[in-house]
Amino acid sequence: MDSVAQVLRNHPNAYVIGGGSNILLVHDLDRVVLINKLRGIEIKHLAHDKILVKAGAGVIWDDLVDFCVSKSYYGIENLTAIPGSVGAAPMQNIGAYGVELKDVFLELKAMHRETQEIHIFTTQDCQFGYRSSIFKNHLKDQYIITEVSLLLSKEKSLNTSYAPVNMAVEKLSKEASISDVRDIIRDIRWSKLPRPSKLGNAGSFFKNPIISKSLFSDIQKKYPSIPSYPALNGIKVPAGWLIEQAGWKGKKIGETGCHQKQSLVIVNYGEATGEEIYNHAVKVQASIESMFNIELEMEVNIVGGI
Ligand SMILES: Cc1cc2nc3c(=O)[nH]c(=O)nc-3n(C[C@H](O)[C@H](O)[C@H](O)COP(=O)(O)OP(=O)(O)OC[C@H]3O[C@@H](n4cnc5c(N)ncnc54)[C@H](O)[C@@H]3O)c2cc1C
Repeated sequence: MDSVAQVLRNHPNAYVIGGGSNILLVHDLDRVVLINKLRGIEIKHLAHDKILVKAGAGVIWDDLVDFCVSKSYYGIENLTAIPGSVGAAPMQNIGAYGVELKDVFLELKAMHRETQEIHIFTTQDCQFGYRSSIFKNHLKDQYIITEVSLLLSKEKSLNTSYAPVNMAVEKLSKEASISDVRDIIRDIRWSKLPRPSKLGNAGSFFKNPIISKSLFSDIQKKYPSIPSYPALNGIKVPAGWLIEQAGWKGKKIGETGCHQKQSLVIVNYGEATGEEIYNHAVKVQASIESMFNIELEMEVNIVGGI
């Protein structure tokens, strides 16, 4: 931890990354880049079958999932195969297959960039939302997350509410175990998503927009099959569906484009620059705005100025 404080004293605006899986570098950075390698997993058995799992921010997220699955600590198995580090997970409240980090989150430790003091943030302090937290909003660029604590359970409890997961679980000839669910979700994910090691991508490029009921019903008149989910402040619409309707799915422009299986993912077919990928994303945004009057928000962190 002293080494992080030392770097911050000399380079208060150092850019911190974990796995670098959710950033798009648009231009070169003239800042020191700090790669988080704070390792270590600690566990503490609590009353009522609860387990406190503390992990260094530089632990690979999926290694933590595998560790917890191997010990039958329930809670994060649905978040399997999300690339990146533990420290980045609270940044956007990672989520998948019916579970979000906030569901199992207890607290985190973060170092204030200017004072190098360590502060503790509870769930409430973090102001988690859909792919968001206080660290992406009011406290953007003010803290470096150094440790994350989760509250998991030793009591069997699996979330198979997502239809394809449920179908795969039903097909098993035995009662599903925590590792069955982890494996099923991992297989579903990689059957739909391009692996960044084979085809460059940063996951979902845009957030699923939440729109007003009146805008939704206007769109529904023209597109009766529009999928939707209830959300806190309106109706959530899959951004991938909107992008597909606008004709971007699988369309390759130069060395970039929206992926043929998952249009929400913008891929680099080889030599595209960060700027070209960013420009593609802006074109997609503009076409969705003119077609549906919906502003798509980028989920990927744009780095290096635009
Ligand atoms: C194929 C693929 C699939 C994905 N699927 C999902 C998914 O299902 N659900 C989901 O939520 N996300 C998903 N993502 C996005 C990504 O995996 C997550 O955002 C992940 O948490 C990024 O971790 P990272 O360590 O790579 O972060 P980085 O890309 O290194 O950093 C992301 C942001 O967090 C900041 N940051 C990183 N570490 C710290 C720290 N310790 N303290 C302060 N700031 C920090 C960085 O400055 C940057 O702004 C996917 C990405 C890919 C490529």
